[in-house]
Amino acid sequence: MARLSGWGRTTSSLCDDERVSATDAAAALASAGARGLLVRGSGCSYGDAALNTGGTALTLAPEDPTVHPHGVVVAGAGTSFETLLRTTLPTGWTLPVLPGTRHLTLGGAIAADVHGKNHLQDGSIAAWLDEVVLLDGAGRRWVTRPGDPEFAATVGGMGLTGMILGATLRLLPAEGTQLEVSNQRLPDLDQVMAALDVAARRSRYAVAWVDAFARGRGVVSEARWTGSPCRRSYAPAQHLVAPPVPLSVVTPLTARAFNAAWWRLPGHERTSVTTLTSFFHPLDGVRQWNRLYGPRGFLQYQFVVPDGAAHLVGDALGELTAAGGAPFLGVLKRFGDASEGLLSFPRPGWSLAVDLPPTPGLGAVLDGLDTRVAAAGGAVYLAKDARLSAELFEDMYPRVKEWRDVQTRLDPEGLFRSDLDRRLGLVRRA
Ligand SMILES: Cc1cc2nc3c(=O)[nH]c(=O)nc-3n(C[C@H](O)[C@H](O)[C@H](O)COP(=O)(O)OP(=O)(O)OC[C@H]3O[C@@H](n4cnc5c(N)ncnc54)[C@H](O)[C@@H]3O)c2cc1C
Repeated sequence: MARLSGWGRTTSSLCDDERVSATDAAAALASAGARGLLVRGSGCSYGDAALNTGGTALTLAPEDPTVHPHGVVVAGAGTSFETLLRTTLPTGWTLPVLPGTRHLTLGGAIAADVHGKNHLQDGSIAAWLDEVVLLDGAGRRWVTRPGDPEFAATVGGMGLTGMILGATLRLLPAEGTQLEVSNQRLPDLDQVMAALDVAARRSRYAVAWVDAFARGRGVVSEARWTGSPCRRSYAPAQHLVAPPVPLSVVTPLTARAFNAAWWRLPGHERTSVTTLTSFFHPLDGVRQWNRLYGPRGFLQYQFVVPDGAAHLVGDALGELTAAGGAPFLGVLKRFGDASEGLLSFPRPGWSLAVDLPPTPGLGAVLDGLDTRVAAAGGAVYLAKDARLSAELFEDMYPRVKEWRDVQTRLDPEGLFRSDLDRRLGLVRRA
């Protein structure tokens, strides 16, 4: 047994930690005990999605991906985005969806139906998948495609429909070797949201960083590829390692000071040319940066609300600071159409993500926000969550009933289990 935790380190559990190759995956199904089995990727989900207390947490060995000249990659589910980029970029192609870390695996990306800074224009990863290969709870191997119920239940299905063994993913041409990033510094949240809306329609990639301590002032960044089409190798540097610290370095005081300094950075009012790593994966520059929150860890609260409830973004920032919290840099994104994933998080509107060290009263503020997000037709992101209630989950994910019908068919004996599933009652139990 090994003690595993989510990226936020607020939750940890003892799991039987096993590693298998895709060819041995079927045998692993047979050896699962009473607490069931879960496939774990790189553990980049923040809460309890990749934990299975007392049961098996299996990781799949990475396999070498194959890139086809017409811009398609075929890869095993245990392959990281870093390895995928190392393989695709020298051939002139990039991944269509780039979340904020390169360490996640393809399987974890599909199970969470991840999004990047281009959701308004390009959707989530589900929109780019031609096939997903799945081993279900009864040991059957499926090649699922968009339009299939098994596909709709597996993308965003948080690993509970079976073991994703691999996938075929369409790629985007890497139109340049670097990114031209234009930044605008804006004094309040209304202006940030107006500018982000324009930026996300004008440029493929757009995101805003907002300061919860100062009326949501922020910096809107939009980016496009520049330079000659990319045929370069990809070798991201990672020199620094965060040390373990006895107490969180993020407190209301330091968060306020950091946010203010960040907003004032001279680069935040100009256009510059930068690398893929510094635009898409700035946090990966420091290994294990999550340790800076100390042994108690931190929560990431990410929600999406439709345009009609956009005021909830400002309400959340205001309430989190008023309650004495330490909301670290907030990240605001503009979302477009939902994918066919029955439990997928992205839907049209506004998404806010904030990192929060646990502070007194934080739970009550988040509970209140959850209720209003659910009432507005929004949702909290399951890949980041560690604390949502089962009741509000049902409101936020109304297609869960359809999902349960397919899930029960794929896993009739209830082999696939996770702590997230137990907390939220995702799977229908006999
Ligand atoms: C710094 C940072 C930035 C991030 N930015 C973004 C972002 O911009 N957009 C975004 O959408 N997400 C983002 N995330 C969240 C991350 O992309 C998701 O949590 C993703 O699911 C992590 O993948 P993983 O391989 O680490 O999977 P894990 O965290 O190990 O597992 C996540 C889920 O996937 C399931 N799973 C993993 N592999 C398989 C498999 N082979 N078969 C079946 N199920 C499987 C697990 O059971 C679990 O339910 C970020 C995370 C970090 C740490």
